[in-house]
Amino acid sequence: MDAMHADPRFSQMPFKIDPADGHTFQKLKVKSRPELVTLRLGEEDINPLKVTGNYLAPDEFYQAMQDENTVVIDARNDYEYDLGHFRGAVRPEIKTFRELPDWIEENQEQFEGKRILTYCTGGIRCEKFSGWLVEKGFDDVHQLHGGIATYAKHPEVKGQLWDGKMYVFDERISVPINQVEHVIVGKDYFDGTPCERYINYGNPFCNRQFISSEENEAKYLGGCSHECRVHPKNRYIERHNLTTEEVEARLSALEEETTNTI
Ligand SMILES: [Zn+2]
Repeated sequence: MDAMHADPRFSQMPFKIDPADGHTFQKLKVKSRPELVTLRLGEEDINPLKVTGNYLAPDEFYQAMQDENTVVIDARNDYEYDLGHFRGAVRPEIKTFRELPDWIEENQEQFEGKRILTYCTGGIRCEKFSGWLVEKGFDDVHQLHGGIATYAKHPEVKGQLWDGKMYVFDERISVPINQVEHVIVGKDYFDGTPCERYINYGNPFCNRQFISSEENEAKYLGGCSHECRVHPKNRYIERHNLTTEEVEARLSALEEETTNTI
């Protein structure tokens, strides 16, 4: 951090520090990228240094969220939202950030005439997204400065009005935000019961990440569908060194259960 701050180009660079009990990344990689997060806007790309939404500090955001004429848009992906989000926030149906502009355009009427608040994990995606909203002609656009990570640490707000946990892109998978109350919003993919455990791998068949209890993960062999379960590179089977007999037994138990339900 000292080395970065000593370089005039990065002298103002903010660092977000989150203590953890172990290594949260398997290895450190530093890469040069033309842009950190992409909306694939091409010619119409946004420069957040020129145009972006108004910054709100955590306490300002907390107040603004509770105003009736406000709509809060989650600028993250659907699987991030599903584990935790601000109470009442809109959930865009998108798998990746670059799908967000199209989704907003298709659902524009929900936001017209409203004060718009946007938020994301670290505040980076919002720099671009809120700028894009301003460019689109929305005139009352605000963003959570520093993102949810910063919001969680505010001494007075204490993460309030956040439900569930926050998805993070490291080995921890999720972190707590609300220090006052903990409402579980995550649901087990298989049976819909309250659950906050994200499975820490995607299967090669779908690469999908989903929430599931350890019990259901075992029962369904870590696969979201039959195709996913029987895929030759199923990671659950690999990790648990299951024998062909064990796999067959679980598959037929599942089949039996389905037959009985019908
Ligand atoms: Zn799958």
